[in-house]
Amino acid sequence: MGIVTGGCDKKPGAKIKALLFMDLKGQVALVTGASRGLGRAIALRLAAAGAAVCVNYVNRSGEADSLVDEMLSRGGVAFPHRADVGDAAQAESMIATVEQELGPLTILVNNAGVAWRATLETFDIEGMERMRRTNVDGLIHMTRFAARAMKPNGYGRIVNLSSIAGHGTALPGNAFYAATKAAVSVLTRRFAMELGPSGITVNAVAPGFILTDMVKEGRTPEEYEQTVGRMRELCMAGRTGTPEDIANAVAFLSAPEAGFITAQVLTVDGGRMDYIGHS
Ligand code: NDP
Repeated sequence: MGIVTGGCDKKPGAKIKALLFMDLKGQVALVTGASRGLGRAIALRLAAAGAAVCVNYVNRSGEADSLVDEMLSRGGVAFPHRADVGDAAQAESMIATVEQELGPLTILVNNAGVAWRATLETFDIEGMERMRRTNVDGLIHMTRFAARAMKPNGYGRIVNLSSIAGHGTALPGNAFYAATKAAVSVLTRRFAMELGPSGITVNAVAPGFILTDMVKEGRTPEEYEQTVGRMRELCMAGRTGTPEDIANAVAFLSAPEAGFITAQVLTVDGGRMDYIGHS
């Protein structure tokens, strides 16, 4: 990584003469939905850069605990916290707990998400509500309470996990999920506008097809293999993505040096070529 000698905004109180790029020492991060998949990789990446990390989960306590053990064994600072981000009271109390345990929150990664596949034929309102509650309401609750904590310090980095589905890719069965992710992208820009004067940047990463448990669920092994093959063909990079591909982009947007980047949705999809809606 290169050396940055100026031109970045910094955490209040930090003495920066020469700063290692993506050095997150002294930062306090909360990653929602970090028990597996992208959240797990993001938590590990932020911890490797020196941040103290709260590993949020809602169901898989064993996975969250073992991730925290792994981070501690590497000399990091981390703790697990169970909270449903779709519940405003739990979201608020999670932010308070993070600040009690680790100090002022500087990085929030809104990663927790649910992918529910359906068509107009198979739509049901319960499935839609369950997904929207996490993907949209959860992001709003977490951002409200994180912003309240960050504003007095005049500094913060918020990174949301959107999706190229929200840009309008053509993978079948993703219409309603895509609508929730389009909401994530527009809320990213709106919240950036609202929080910019408080020194808080708000950006999103829009991943392409990344091999996690999420993309296996709801598909038979044959459907999964077919989908993976098709995604490789549709991708300029000729491969599907890894959780680390996404974690690196999130770490970049979480760093002090990214202080003049806000309201952006960074697509990390290896160059997908199946976009629809050329209006
Ligand atoms: P996974 O299904 O593998 O993991 C989802 C995570 O979210 C789990 O840790 C889960 O916790 C957590 N979670 C779900 N609901 C809640 C909730 N209400 N409160 C707190 N945590 C919750 O998903 P991925 O890692 O694949 O995806 C992560 C994010 O990236 C999502 O927002 C997804 O939409 C987005 N994304 C993923 C892509 C992909 O190809 N994988 C592509 C584009 C976007 P627990 O395990 O405890 O249930």
